[in-house]
Amino acid sequence: MWRGFVAALFAAVMAVGVAAPARADTWNPPANLVTPLNQVWQHVESTYGDLYGFRNYGWDQLFANKGYLNFCVRWDSPQPVTAQQRDAVHAQLARQYKKWMDAMAGHNNFPYASVPIKVVGWAVRDRNQLQWTDNSVDIYVNDIRENAPQCSEGCGRFFNRGGTYPRCPGGVPRHYDQSLWLTSGFGGGAGGDWGQRIGSEYFMGNLNSADVHIFLHEVGHTFGLDDFYDWTPSGVDRFIMKAGSSTVITEFDKWMLRDFWRHLKNRYGF
Ligand SMILES: [Zn+2]
Repeated sequence: MWRGFVAALFAAVMAVGVAAPARADTWNPPANLVTPLNQVWQHVESTYGDLYGFRNYGWDQLFANKGYLNFCVRWDSPQPVTAQQRDAVHAQLARQYKKWMDAMAGHNNFPYASVPIKVVGWAVRDRNQLQWTDNSVDIYVNDIRENAPQCSEGCGRFFNRGGTYPRCPGGVPRHYDQSLWLTSGFGGGAGGDWGQRIGSEYFMGNLNSADVHIFLHEVGHTFGLDDFYDWTPSGVDRFIMKAGSSTVITEFDKWMLRDFWRHLKNRYGF
């Protein structure tokens, strides 16, 4: 599900002949993916309201940080969480994220060989649910938005687009770019610039799974990738962004991610 991208006035800014010299584009998808990739990009261009003006894709967050991403876990469940589970959530989050980021490493001037993933905070209704006493993560208690616990808005990228966090006690190092929102009894998923929302039972039940496919799909949305509810590109029928058709990131998914980078990278000087 595609949710959370705030529509903004579309400002078409055309660079006329004075653009800085761009580095060469390395664009060499497999021959059988050229046509479907072009179809996807044409569809994105014709259906996204603010494709080239939107400034909070996962890409924007990554470059604002110069190469890492921070998370808040919104624990939207009455269940307790042990320190071991906390660390396992972090580890699985990082392992899953790496699957997408590895598609970018070394590709077409993408500058980061790896993208560290850090959980800086947990949000919960009742402090007693979190069964640890160390201060390795910031803890936010009963700060409710959308009927669910959230980390401090002063620390959240979604609420602070400027890259500074004057209302965050820990400042930039303790800010969060995305929320991993784990909701009890929630089926399916949602993803956007604000993060990913999936069922808490689903995620906790897949802490050792190789591919947490609903989560992987939602991360695709965070980086701008679209859904395919009503059409399928030519010659490709199984890929993770086509919900229900694949439980793993496929070559086509990787090339869609790379295509997004290809079309956005000049905003970061590449
Ligand atoms: Zn979706």
